[in-house]
This record gives sequence, C-alpha cells and structure tokens, in this order.
Amino acid sequence: MKATTNAFQMAQQQFDQVAEQLKLDQQVSDYLRWPMREFSFRIPVKMDGGDIKIFNGFRVQHNDAIGPCKGGIRFHPSETIDTVRALATWMTWKCAVADIPLGGGKGGVIVDPATLTNTEKENLCRGYMQKVWRNIGPRRDVPAPDVGTTPQMMGWMMDEYSKLSGEYTPGVITGKPVGGGGSLGRTEATGLGVIYTIREAMKRLKIDPSKTTASIQGFGNVAQYAAIGFTNVLKGKVMAVSYWDRDDRTSYTISHPKGIDAVYLQSITNQYGAIDKEKAKSTGYEIEEGTGWISKDVDVLIPAAIEGQINAETVEMISDKVKIIAEGANGPTTLEADEQLKKRGVFMVPDFLCNAGGVTVSYFESVQNDMNYYWSKEEVLQKLDEKMTNAFRSVYDMYEKERVFMRDAAYMVAISRVVKAMQLRGWI
Ligand code: GLU
Repeated sequence: MKATTNAFQMAQQQFDQVAEQLKLDQQVSDYLRWPMREFSFRIPVKMDGGDIKIFNGFRVQHNDAIGPCKGGIRFHPSETIDTVRALATWMTWKCAVADIPLGGGKGGVIVDPATLTNTEKENLCRGYMQKVWRNIGPRRDVPAPDVGTTPQMMGWMMDEYSKLSGEYTPGVITGKPVGGGGSLGRTEATGLGVIYTIREAMKRLKIDPSKTTASIQGFGNVAQYAAIGFTNVLKGKVMAVSYWDRDDRTSYTISHPKGIDAVYLQSITNQYGAIDKEKAKSTGYEIEEGTGWISKDVDVLIPAAIEGQINAETVEMISDKVKIIAEGANGPTTLEADEQLKKRGVFMVPDFLCNAGGVTVSYFESVQNDMNYYWSKEEVLQKLDEKMTNAFRSVYDMYEKERVFMRDAAYMVAISRVVKAMQLRGWI
C-alpha cells in the first residue's frame, strides 16, 4: 500500500480494507467512499480596519442514511477540502458506532482564529452561516464545534440561522453555550467519553486504572477533560501533556514528576489550548521543546490534537511500556503506524469510537432543543456513559469474534449499520 499523509485518502484506504473483508457490493462501497454532497464557498468578512478579507469555507455531507448529517466546523490554517471530506466520512462511522440516529458531515474554514479579533470572529461565523444556511437545518445537517471553534461561535451561528430562517431554531447547531440552548455536560463530553472507553478497555485487559499513567498530545477541549477524567474518574496519573505555541511556532511538552494537575493547568491555558509556560515553570513543571509526549514511559497514550500525528516516523518513538492508545483526536494514526502498532500488540481504541462522546452529547442537546426541556448534568453524563459503554461493547464483541484490529472491528460495526439503513430505505 502506498503511504499517504492525505487524510481523505487515509479514510478511504481504511474503509477499502474493511469493505473488502465485508465483501461489500462494489457500487455500495463506491458510494460510501465518497461524500454524497459537498459545498465550497467564499466568505467576505469585514475586518476591524474597515477592509474586506475573503475566507474559503467548506461543508461536506458524507452520508445521511441513518439520520441528518452531523459534525463540527473547524477553523484551521491548513484546512483543505480533503481534510473536511475525511472528517465528514469519519463522522458517519462515529454516529453509527455510537448508535445515534445521525449521519456524517463536517465543515471548515481556512483560518487561524487566533489572528482574528472578537468582532472579526463573529463576522466570519455569521458569514459562514449566510453561505450554508439553505443547505443545513435540524432535519438536514447539524454543525457543532471542533478545533478552533467555540460554544460562543455556535451561539452566533445559531442566531444568524434563526434570523435568516425567521424562526428561533436552536436545533440547527449543537455545542452552543449553556443558557443559549446548549446542554450541560457538552464541554466535558468528548474528553470524558475518551475516559469511559479507556475504563472499558482496561476492564477487558485486566488492568487496574488506578495504577496507570498517561501522556496526552494537546491541551485543547478534548485533552483537558481527558486529563481531568484520567485523574478523577480512573484515579490514574497524567505524566505529560503537550501543546502548540503559535507565537514560537513550536510544540512543547509539559510534565511533572508526580503527575500533572490538569485543573491547575487548565486555569493557566488560553482558549486555543496554549499553556502559560512561565507560570507552569514557576510551579514545578518541566517544559521541553518538541513532541516528547509520544516517547514517555506510560501505559496509555492519548493523541488529542489533529490528524496524522502518529505516523511512520513517530511510531518508532513510542515506549514498549504503552499498552493502550486512545484516540481523542480524529485520524491521529496513519495506516503505516497502525501496521507497526498491530505487530507490537498495542490495544487501539480507535478515534470514531474513542471520541464519540462529543457528538453523543450533541445529539442529547438537539433532543433537548426539540423538547424545549433541559436535563441535569448528572442525567446527561449518565446517559453518555451508557452510550459509550454500549458502543465499546459492540466493537469489542466484533473484535473478539472476527479477531481483527480494533479499528477494523469499529469499521465493521459502523459500515454494517449504515449499509443496513441504506437497505431499509431502499437505496440499495
Ligand atoms: N467535532 C466533534 C467530533 O469530531 C463533535 C461533532 C458534533 O458534536 O457534532 O466528533
């Protein structure tokens, strides 16, 4: 197989391998390896200086056999149509594995949001909505936050959609702020979901979580709550986290010999996941330049940043002590790295199972929006745990039955569910 760093080719190759094993009909797999619909548009934004800047935006709808398309909008400087296609495809598999009645979609804008002022961000969010509002909606396609976007941005987008459509429509987007149509527990959901799947993996592998250590890539929303959950729920220790410093254009790994205090580090982190190095240093943290997080002698690695981070090169740096990789990010491991990890017998909790907690609570958010009745945080998190535990069980059962890599088992569960919905609707 040819090595690829293109996320969409990676998503297609992962799919192709399993489609072959499942002996999927050629026409069906040709349909599923491509998104069903794509939008690419230009967004003019009025900047604070009075000039107009044009941004490139995308929305890709991969599949809606099980329900309306669902998936975040990323604001990232290296976004392309192919990264959005890959992420939309993974959303289809994610919703299917999580067993929520939604399909897959994703959006993106080529932008570094840290370069925008608050007003410019608001103008960009409203501009994005003006371009896509006719093609999305609670029964069509429901966006949400992702890398570079925040609950506040979702609030602006919901407001713009409501204005354009002439009706208050909270269900058009999820991940909204609490008090503005959002659900309690949504902020923590992805990171906590990661933790619930690690807990289930450890049960099967007969590992006592309280005796384990972890190292995490990233310190954005997913990484922060995964770190907090690793300590509070599993009672383990997080030895290191990393982050990308956009001013220095450098990655840093921050560690503490006794384990990090994730709540403290969160308090000295900005909205883009950048930690205040000086404060961390003055409170006993060690700071190293580079991607040291990956080579720590820990039991669990949690890549929770962006795609392609565990690849042919970096996989060699992973310590023999690592037993579990739990993919908080979407697509963090390339196919070549997967082959190495298979050989080494590392237990993989694949992305679209591991990080399905976010979209699961997004689904709960849209259910609450429809009812116009809101649940307590305890209720949301208990329902989340149930969904994640069931999703893990379905994939693990397939893994035991078919004796395949966990990622392939997750694909088998997801593809079978989507294909069944397509059959039931008479598409195939
Ligand atoms: N962006 C998140 C993901 O990749 C959440 C999607 C959603 O809530 O719709 O799963």
